[in-house]
Amino acid sequence: MFASFLIGLGGTVVGDLPKVEKQLSLDDYMDAKVAEPVRSSIKTADVAERDANSALEQAKLKRNAARADTAAARETFNNWLATRRVTQLPDQDPELMARTRALDLLKDKERAAGVAVEAQQQLALDARQAAVRERRKLGDMQEAAQVQLNAAYRRLELRVFLYRLARTLPLLVVAGWLFVKKRKSTYWPFVWGFIIFAAFAFFIELVPYLPSYGGYVRYIVGIIVTIVVGRQAIVSLNRYLEKQKLAEQLPDAQRREELSYDTALTRLSKSVCPGCERGVDLKNTTMDFCPHCGIGLFDHCFACSTRKSAFSKFCHACGAAAEHDKLLAP
Ligand SMILES: [Zn+2]
Ligand SMILES: [Zn+2]
Repeated sequence: MFASFLIGLGGTVVGDLPKVEKQLSLDDYMDAKVAEPVRSSIKTADVAERDANSALEQAKLKRNAARADTAAARETFNNWLATRRVTQLPDQDPELMARTRALDLLKDKERAAGVAVEAQQQLALDARQAAVRERRKLGDMQEAAQVQLNAAYRRLELRVFLYRLARTLPLLVVAGWLFVKKRKSTYWPFVWGFIIFAAFAFFIELVPYLPSYGGYVRYIVGIIVTIVVGRQAIVSLNRYLEKQKLAEQLPDAQRREELSYDTALTRLSKSVCPGCERGVDLKNTTMDFCPHCGIGLFDHCFACSTRKSAFSKFCHACGAAAEHDKLLAP
């Protein structure tokens, strides 16, 4: 409970801190004096292209109308010509001239409409190519800015990590000190609460922000942590085994003295020898000593001679205090 309240408080404090890092964008790494004209010329070129395209549509419609006019006029003229050939009326020559002239006029109109279409096509093409050119220029600038932005993000990542490290490392150091010195004190629940909080802050809130540099940092830190923790585990295991070995060489009474009453009872309830923690058959009534380390497991009451556990403080049959020292004293 203590740990969860501490974690909640820590989260609230962090949430209320002013946001120190501002969000970066591509524009921060581009020269606005160069980029702005390029952007506006892209916009101009786009507008010009759009205008040219709609003008082109209009010009095409006009050309189609002119073509249709010419085609219709030519058909009428051909029909008239055919009639004239049949009738052979020489007085119709001036009319022939007039009709030919009208047809030429229509043909001229059609040609003019075609020229207008071509001009608009040229305009649209120019605008499109200008836009492509300017876009390419802007793309190059953005590419260069992206490189700088990525570098800035790496620096930012490192800064955030160091900031978090500065907050969580002292907590972890305090937790380590508490673990070594105070974990068995009267206030151990608070001590353990703080240790859990510090471990949570360090491993859950810090480790995910470790800058990766393509995985190098993460793996190297993992290897170092494993070596340090593993070495500590090996050293403590060896120290424990050493202590066990020394303890087994002490006289029986002294060994029993050094074991706390509760530890001995816990180990006996698990059917292991309180001295060496190896399994023993406590139900076997002929076994008074541990066959592994030789510590006495059962003895006899000095008052009533009932067989009883050598670790119990009183005889269960007559209630006499079991004082080993008195018995063993010469
Ligand atoms: Zn033993
Ligand atoms: Zn007794």
